[in-house]
Amino acid sequence: MTAPKPRRIRPSPPSSLSCRDCPVCGASAVPVQFPREFVWSGTVFRQYRCLGCRTVFTDPVPTQDQLAKVYDWTSYHSAYPEIPAARDDATLSRVGNYTSGKKLLDVGCGTGSFLRRAATAGYEAIGAEITDTVAQEASARAGVPVVPLETLLEGSSQFDVVHCRDVLAHLVEPRETLARLLRLLTIEGLLVLDDPIEENPSLVLGAARAWSKWSSHGCLRASSRGPTMLMRMTARSHQILLDGMGLELVESRVTETGWPYCVPGQPIRTFAAAVKAGVGWSARALSWLDVTNTFGNRVFTISRRRGSSD
Ligand SMILES: [Zn+2]
Repeated sequence: MTAPKPRRIRPSPPSSLSCRDCPVCGASAVPVQFPREFVWSGTVFRQYRCLGCRTVFTDPVPTQDQLAKVYDWTSYHSAYPEIPAARDDATLSRVGNYTSGKKLLDVGCGTGSFLRRAATAGYEAIGAEITDTVAQEASARAGVPVVPLETLLEGSSQFDVVHCRDVLAHLVEPRETLARLLRLLTIEGLLVLDDPIEENPSLVLGAARAWSKWSSHGCLRASSRGPTMLMRMTARSHQILLDGMGLELVESRVTETGWPYCVPGQPIRTFAAAVKAGVGWSARALSWLDVTNTFGNRVFTISRRRGSSD
């Protein structure tokens, strides 16, 4: 008995598609061919580019049940290696340049690695997560409390530092959630964002887009993990997200990791993998040499909450 052939589904014609407005600036959007659409959990997820700020975003947004599946401990956080402690220490050192306050909140704390380093550095640190399993794991690993994000947002706690790494791109309503998070900051408190900006100018982005165009055969692909990223920003659209929120930008740095072409420790077994690694390392070199702070796939910003009279 032979296994049935997988069903080949043709993508919908772009002219028939409509979507929600841009979650960053509210402008309308058009469908894009890259990243490609995919099907997961019975839903077809497509990508659209905002005509205003050029953010690429996923539509439709996943349901709450789908989001819980995507971000479960076993299916998401446990699949990624921990961030090196040196990177967490560098972030804490930069934060220490702007405040002596010690009450710190890490939103979307994941494996708890940043919380652990913050506690070691003398911060009174707590974490926030949206999934119970992740909150329990992070708390056990970091040795500090991790609470449901919604509980915190509805409470009256105040923090000197709110740290969000790899959070914004996963939010269904980023502007609204960010505005609520800012209410947890003391006056003069710091918002620290460390985010992917996957639509920003980068050698890796250009190569990945060309590769996708060349290798695409027009069929809808199935995803095993669901839509883990709901937005692909640029450095500019990342800043647009913060505009009008009563913040003063005190530091902003664009960097390049080369991901997913250049992954430290990942073996290179094929010619194609070697070419991709070369593109990834070249992208990193370009970003290192870039004095204009333009090229790269990540942005790190520190912003200060202004006083009410500012
Ligand atoms: Zn937009």
